[in-house]
Amino acid sequence: MTLQTQLEKLDRHLARFREGGILNLIDGKDAEGSGGTFQTHSPVDESLIATVARGTATDIDRAAEAAKAAFPAWAALSGDKRKAVLHRIADGIEARAEEIALCECWDTGQAWRFMSKAALRGAENFRYFADLAPSARDGKTLPTKDHLNVTSRRPIGPVGVITPWNTPFMLSTWKIAPALAAGCTVVHKPAEFSPLTARLLAEIAQEAGLPPGVLNLVNGFGEDAGRALTEHPAIKAIGFVGESRTGSMIMKQGADTLKRVHFELGGKNPVVVFDDADIERALDAVIFMIYSLNGERCTSSSRLLVQESIAEEFQARLVERVNRIRVGHPLDPETEMGPLIHKTHFDKVTFYVDIGKADGATLAAGGMRVGDKGWFVRPTLFTGATPQMRIAQEEVFGPFLTSLTFRDEAEALEIANSTAYGLTGYLWTNDLTRALRFSEALEAGMIWVNSENVRHLPTPFGGVKASGIGRDGGDWSFEFYMEQKNTAFALGNHKIQRLGA
Ligand code: NAD
Repeated sequence: MTLQTQLEKLDRHLARFREGGILNLIDGKDAEGSGGTFQTHSPVDESLIATVARGTATDIDRAAEAAKAAFPAWAALSGDKRKAVLHRIADGIEARAEEIALCECWDTGQAWRFMSKAALRGAENFRYFADLAPSARDGKTLPTKDHLNVTSRRPIGPVGVITPWNTPFMLSTWKIAPALAAGCTVVHKPAEFSPLTARLLAEIAQEAGLPPGVLNLVNGFGEDAGRALTEHPAIKAIGFVGESRTGSMIMKQGADTLKRVHFELGGKNPVVVFDDADIERALDAVIFMIYSLNGERCTSSSRLLVQESIAEEFQARLVERVNRIRVGHPLDPETEMGPLIHKTHFDKVTFYVDIGKADGATLAAGGMRVGDKGWFVRPTLFTGATPQMRIAQEEVFGPFLTSLTFRDEAEALEIANSTAYGLTGYLWTNDLTRALRFSEALEAGMIWVNSENVRHLPTPFGGVKASGIGRDGGDWSFEFYMEQKNTAFALGNHKIQRLGA
């Protein structure tokens, strides 16, 4: 596989979008946007990929009404039948995994070595929730002396799914698959920076036999189409992945219609390395968890907390490795880091380089643009930072690591918990008791001890503090997409108080 052959294949896949644009898909039909179009450009060379249908409140209304009309039949379908459709969607994803990965790399700048796996992970998400569909409605019996309580779950109704531009295909499947498995119908509003693979997913679902109106796609901008989706009365819940600030706006926008919300938001995740850790493995994990996926990863460990006794050596080795990371064309199989998604994001990341320097931290690696076309930056490392500096507190969401040092466990914990976020935490130590004590006190929704981020789909995924509300994964996803019902049957003639008798 060479870069040239990758580019030729990509070109064939993109030809139809260059000609016809990227359309919405509402009620099983292609649809123009009532707001006209917008353009999507590749971060690799800033070239135009395609025009995209620009949805507005009018299109969202049509999509929400289609989802509402399709809901009763989809919800009434047996779990086994929903399971079969979802497996067919997974088959379709696997069959087109190469196309999905090529498009995703070109649209987002993510390196092929990660995106080829992310496409397949999308199929895995569908298969996992497909298998849970038949039992999604199962309830409990909770007997008392006088009553038999029977609980059951039913899908909440049509839901909105709003996704970001980082690994957009995989994240969309992570939100959409459980909604469909539960029996909900969906209106999906993907990020405006990365519309390509959401269109592929909608097409694959339709080809797999998902009935019209069950999954609707409306492209458009957040403050426009996104906002309308969160305000629509037919939409019962919003599954959202994106920035914490946007989550807070969505909560306000959804208040009038009492939306149920599920938020997977930002992070400033610590990786804590104690001096008794396996240093080689810790070093590999620290580098992987901030520079893979261009650092545009909610679970990235963007704050390194390293114990003073080993800090100098650890940081020196880090600098050496970071300077050797291969930045290049995302479709080149050798590339480890591609360009950042968009100029606005490039500006944000480089702005934090200036802030780091101005605040007195040491720029130990990277920080500069690569080339003069596309949004490439060298992987960046700051050392000598202090916990309250902006580069140690705010989410940069790029290949940007801030290194801090600590004396002892108490100080490490204080620093680790000192940000507004609480998505993940990573801990490197061979002291079992300390690992247990520290992970208990760490404010994070997900913690990995002596490991990088390795996902197991049945486990709960989500954050605390400003990093989110709710959990995905296994039955936690169904808790969000379904309503609980309890019915109490009297078992006899228990005493009823007689008023006015
Ligand atoms: P963003 O919040 O800017 O946008 C996300 C989506 O929300 C987009 O589709 C956008 O159009 C839409 N949107 C924007 N304003 C809206 C509004 N007022 N109403 C409704 N929708 C609106 O986020 P982004 O820049 O695309 O993504 C990066 C962020 O996502 C980072 O903060 C990252 O940490 C977070 N993220 C979190 C997770 C997680 O699981 N916790 C996973 C991936 C990304």
